[in-house]
Parts: sequence; structure tokens; C-alpha cells
Amino acid sequence: MRGKLTVGNWQMHGGLAENAARFAVLAREWKPAGGREIAVCVPFPFLAQARETLGGGTVGYGAQDVSAHAQGAYTGEVSAAMLAEFGCRYAIVGHSERRQYHGESDEQIAEKVAAAHRHGVVPIICVGETADDLETHGPSAVPVAQLRVALGGAAKGKPVVVAYEPVWAIGSGQAATSEQAQQVCAALRGVIAEVLGDDAASATRILYGGSVKASNIAGFMRETDIDGALVGGASLLLDEFSSIVRYQQHVGT
Ligand code: PEP
Repeated sequence: MRGKLTVGNWQMHGGLAENAARFAVLAREWKPAGGREIAVCVPFPFLAQARETLGGGTVGYGAQDVSAHAQGAYTGEVSAAMLAEFGCRYAIVGHSERRQYHGESDEQIAEKVAAAHRHGVVPIICVGETADDLETHGPSAVPVAQLRVALGGAAKGKPVVVAYEPVWAIGSGQAATSEQAQQVCAALRGVIAEVLGDDAASATRILYGGSVKASNIAGFMRETDIDGALVGGASLLLDEFSSIVRYQQHVGT
């Protein structure tokens, strides 16, 4: 039985004072609950603050990217070993903004998955189609192809989280319908079975992301192949995220 997982992606937002308020919401609202889990992925400079505030507790935290390289002359990059040292449970890899603004390829994303696994960090592999992809190929073809390559970097027996994030839904206020997201997530589970085997497919949590907020999260969570949400903008709003955390506390019970 897969426990539901909700992850906040703070994107490039935050500051020490405002983060403290967000961490306080998490500490106040979240109680360890069965297999359910909550986490936030913060900008690199705030990992020390996350470790200080959340370290050793039940709220997970992580980064929004990881280098494919172990160490060396890669100015500006942050290795998986460094993330592990700061207590990161998760690292987002292949977010559409990394693909769009930094030209990350599926092959590079596979290398990042491998690097995360070498250091015990769970990669949250983001896949999703653009509006053009959707029109040309339908909803599943591009995310399925992206995931097939990215999973090539996964180590046998190590956990991954997959996030289906249609690019047209991110930050647009226009979420996918839960039925459409379910259809794609079922196809993604098929890819996991194909590449990593049936046991991995049934154990892997697949999240939906793209304009999730307190008022629409329940619809996604009801779908068979959707095990949680990756939440951007709404994870930065204290009231919204409090409601999401309270929902996550009881979902599936
Ligand atoms: C994201 O940044 O990954 C995201 C899903 O953003 P939003 O929830 O704002 O669409």
C-alpha cells in the first residue's frame, strides 16, 4: 500500500524570515501519520535552515536539482553527496523549468537520478508535455518517453518518485482534470513496470503537479494511480499550504 506524499516546491522563492513562517506551519500542522508523508523542496541556500528546523523530524525536505557529477570543476552545481550531508530526503530532477531554461536532456536527467541514488537521495523525476506536445501527440506520449529514459539511471531496488507535471498546467491556474491526469499516471506506472519491474511499479508513488491548490487536491488524490501532489505556488501561501497539510494528514484514511 503506497502512502500519499505531498511535496511543496518553493521554486526560487523565500527568505530566512518568510521560510521560518512556512516551516512553522509544517511543524504545527503535520503529525506523523501512517504511511503518509509531507516534504518541501527549497532553494539550495535554505537547506541549512531546513535541516536546523526540520532535521530529525517527520517533515521531509530536499532540493530542486542535483548535479550529475560527483565533484570537480562544475561551478554553480551541487552534488548529491552535499545534499545527503544536509539531510535531504529528496531532490527534484528534470523539472520542466530546468528542461526549458537550462536545456536539460532526458539523458542528463537519467545521470542525475543515478547520482541521487548513489547517495541515498530519492529523486522526484518530473515529466510532462507542453501544450504543443499535447496537441501533436496527445497527453501520454511525451511523459512516457521522458520517463523511460530517466529511469535508465535508477539503481535496482532504490526508490524513485515520479511527478507528472503537464507544462501547460504549471503556474497557469489551469490544472489538468483528474481523469486526464489519471490516464497519464497509469501509463507512467506501465513504464515503471517495464523498466524496473512490477514490484517497483506497485511501490512507486506518482504525483500530479500543475496548479494544485487546497480546493482541487482531493480530486487528484482519489485517482487510483495518483499518490500525491507536487505543489508549487500554493505551497508558498500560508493559508493554502496549511489546508493542504491538514488534508494530507487524513487523506486515504
Ligand atoms: C511546480 O512548480 O512544480 C508547480 C507544479 O507549480 P504550480 O503548483 O504553481 O503550478
